[in-house]
Amino acid sequence: MNAPEPSTAAPGAAQAAADQRAEQLRTDRVRRLVDVGSALGLLLALLVVFAVDCRQAGLAGIAARRVEAEGGLFDPIHAPMAEVRQHPHHEQWIGPFGGSEQSEAAVRLGLEWLARHQADDGHWGPDCLHPAPDGRCQPGGSCTGPGSEHRIALTGLALLAFQAGGHYDFNGSEFSASVGRGLDWLVRNQRADGCLLDTLHGAGTCNMYEHGIAAFALADACEMAVSLELEPADRYCQAAARAVSFIEYVQHKDGGWRYTEDRDLPSDTSVSGWQVLALKAAKRARVAEVGQQCVEQVEQFFRRCETGPAGQTGYMPGQILTPATTGVGMLVHEFILERPDSPLVQQGAKYLADLAEQSWRGPVVRRRRFAAPPEDFYAWYNCTLAMFQAGGQPWKRWNDVVRNGLIDCQCLEAQSCARGSWDPLGRWAPQGGRIYSTALAVLTLEVYYRYKSEQAKVYK
Ligand SMILES: [Zn+2]
Repeated sequence: MNAPEPSTAAPGAAQAAADQRAEQLRTDRVRRLVDVGSALGLLLALLVVFAVDCRQAGLAGIAARRVEAEGGLFDPIHAPMAEVRQHPHHEQWIGPFGGSEQSEAAVRLGLEWLARHQADDGHWGPDCLHPAPDGRCQPGGSCTGPGSEHRIALTGLALLAFQAGGHYDFNGSEFSASVGRGLDWLVRNQRADGCLLDTLHGAGTCNMYEHGIAAFALADACEMAVSLELEPADRYCQAAARAVSFIEYVQHKDGGWRYTEDRDLPSDTSVSGWQVLALKAAKRARVAEVGQQCVEQVEQFFRRCETGPAGQTGYMPGQILTPATTGVGMLVHEFILERPDSPLVQQGAKYLADLAEQSWRGPVVRRRRFAAPPEDFYAWYNCTLAMFQAGGQPWKRWNDVVRNGLIDCQCLEAQSCARGSWDPLGRWAPQGGRIYSTALAVLTLEVYYRYKSEQAKVYK
């Protein structure tokens, strides 16, 4: 038999297989080329993105440096407290916290008025509001509303207003000399046991309202130096330490403080609030240790005064509820107990925001915006400080009313000696007078940089 001839199919199958391999090779080459192309494309894309990023980063860096040079990148939350206050252009960054160019201009005029009305020996008092040469007013242009003899408190309030605006005794500010003279006057008017009192004009007994305010001013001066890692002036530190020791010494048996140093009297939250702020500043300035027992007694006293249904704090246990003491109650939680998000603060913030909108917002009648209920610089000061710490929408609602109202009722007559001050209207005007109303108004409008509050950054 003949061997079978090779099938004609065999060469055809081999050819097909060869063609298939060739096709596979072409496909693989194309795929590799595509892969390489993709990789190159991806790489190119990354390079483009990278280049754009670099450019954007470069531009952002240039812009950032430009803005920083102008003060716009200043970070008030992380800068030292004293640096925040003494920043030369507050108006460039206070907007997100609720401040404005107008509020800064009002602060500026207010501080200038206070500086013009300081006595030569450093104090602020009712005697300053008379025409020269007896007083500090322009000839024939006496500012009205001298108030009562509360030189210790008035000097303390004016000093707090300057220091909140970044004018310290040690930083070479245009008002540093005024601040130094005021602090020195307080030091000269301190009793051996630590009480700050004006023996020449006062009642001769320690007034704890006045003492607390002045002790707060001295401690605040030391706190600002320490905040910048500087050594505070020894005479101010020692005076602050003695003043705070006196506060702890006369703490009443019920845990708070009252007008006098009689420890058996019932305390009130208003006087107590100033002692609390002085203690806080002294602790931060490291001029005094505030004992745990003192803090616990303060807490217990304020707990007994928290009687309102909406985070309110009364003047005394079971007594009248006022906006001012509600603000003080919130401050105790925020500053001393370090519980800024406590239910009392949350409820009190909503209550005060409602109150501001219901009571003080309305048609603007220039210089009489706060027509009803009567003006209350004391409540606006305390509550603004507390509301700034509480933050959020309640802060915005409160600030929108009170900030604009205060700006509207500042005295602005061009030729008047009173230009830059606030008329002493409202509840405590006869006692406090124009220095009191002006210092409290300025302090209220300095809230955006006096202390830090990230939660107050609620404005766009
Ligand atoms: Zn005057």
